[in-house]
Amino acid sequence: MKIKTGLFLFLLLLSQQQLFAQQFPSPKTDRPNIIFIMADDHAYQAISAYGSKFIQTPNIDRIAHEGALMRSAYVTNSVCSPSRAVILTGKYSHLNGMKDNGTYFNGAQQTLPKIFKQYGYQTAIVGKWHLFSTPTGFDYWNILPDQGNYYHPRFIKMGKDTVYNGYVTDIITDMAINWIDDNKSKPFFLMLHHKAPHRNAMPPIKYLDKFNDVKFLLPYSFYDDYKNKVGLQRQSITMKNDLDIRYDTKIPCDTCEITKINNWAPGEYKKELAGLTPAERVIWDKAYQKKYEIFKTLHTKAEITRFQYQRYMEDYLRCIMSLDDNVGRVLKYLDKTGLAKNTIVVYMSDQGFYLGEHGLYDKRFMYEESFRTPMMIRYPKAIKAGTQLNQFILNLDVAPTLLDLAGIKPPADMQGESIKPLLNKKPLVKKWRDEIYYHYYELSFNLTAHYGIRTKQYALMHFYNPVDGWELYDLKNDPHEMTNVYDKPEYQATVTDLKAHLKALQVKYQDDEKDFLPKKK
Ligand code: CA
Repeated sequence: MKIKTGLFLFLLLLSQQQLFAQQFPSPKTDRPNIIFIMADDHAYQAISAYGSKFIQTPNIDRIAHEGALMRSAYVTNSVCSPSRAVILTGKYSHLNGMKDNGTYFNGAQQTLPKIFKQYGYQTAIVGKWHLFSTPTGFDYWNILPDQGNYYHPRFIKMGKDTVYNGYVTDIITDMAINWIDDNKSKPFFLMLHHKAPHRNAMPPIKYLDKFNDVKFLLPYSFYDDYKNKVGLQRQSITMKNDLDIRYDTKIPCDTCEITKINNWAPGEYKKELAGLTPAERVIWDKAYQKKYEIFKTLHTKAEITRFQYQRYMEDYLRCIMSLDDNVGRVLKYLDKTGLAKNTIVVYMSDQGFYLGEHGLYDKRFMYEESFRTPMMIRYPKAIKAGTQLNQFILNLDVAPTLLDLAGIKPPADMQGESIKPLLNKKPLVKKWRDEIYYHYYELSFNLTAHYGIRTKQYALMHFYNPVDGWELYDLKNDPHEMTNVYDKPEYQATVTDLKAHLKALQVKYQDDEKDFLPKKK
């Protein structure tokens, strides 16, 4: 009996050790490779793993199906450069210094690639950087200047200008695969940052006829009247008034007076088109001339708005088809080389995006669709296929999570949390967060700076510069955030409670309220 018990305990211990070894590779001998794929402005509404009504994305979905899908992933500041800086540092904008798109990222500070390098990783970034300063912490970098171009784009390869032939999403993927192929003998950390589907969503020529026969339904909140919504009342990112007929809708009409013409937009558009080869230009002109013929038949503002929404969606989704193809190329490469098993693959966007919700395109606001971001991670050694997480996860958590998965202790000054215990379904040492803090600063497009708190049920937002006002949404009863209930008597106790929690989060994250109080009139 004793022998049997001893044997049983021995086997139990052995199986636990094996399980442990399987879940947590030894930090020194078996470090995982990491490929961090990030799109720019990819809405979760346009990913089939999230139940998209618009598009199938089988390759992106593979990451979620073979790994974990985060159903409640959010960003701390929903705009391009700030989100990238949060991911690199694991710190909120007020601490990493990158509050808006008009700032230079301070590359002297501690970043994720620098830490990986210290632990013997080879590090690289290819594609969109958009942090203006020279990348630091990377052994190899080949980045688009600023926003970059879609067709035959210019890159800055380790400081040197280089023009590549082809479509930007294909080229960035080629660079990534080539770099891995040359460096796969040692653990690597690769940031693979796409430009697509960022405005103005120029699709690959081969997909110009996709979605022509699909009629996209307007989202529920498209005609939000902005009543009692101080932030939404002053912004210029509506599909109704702020898309440009040439730049966004790509209608070849220089004299159309009906829709907004931004001073800069036609010039940017022409520059992009000038990059096409003569043969590509013929295909392009033919495709968009057909759209112009439809446009000529429209009469009312409502018809034009509907048409512009349709056009926006077509080109946006065509860009995503190419993204999905290229994610598939990376996954196939990992399969073919046998790297898949020991490689962590992340797919996410720098933030979410409005596809007509509240009548908007773009991002920036704390309203759900751009506050959230798609996020998924595959790591066959440690994450069970088909895992789904509903906990609040932030872009702030990316750096500590990737370090933790690689067996590296995240630095104490990172403000995010490692989600490894959630992924492994381990008992948590401390309770996971059940509320999240947001702070957006940039005033471009007539936006208003705001901060707020999101709990499971509520979103409380304080718009403070240049106008002042509060908004509260009861997401359980109003998931589309149509009614601001901040002033309703029955919500006053909730308001008081949420404000106390908001204050506590500002203290926790060292976001000093005296730095952003509403300006006195
Ligand atoms: Ca972005």
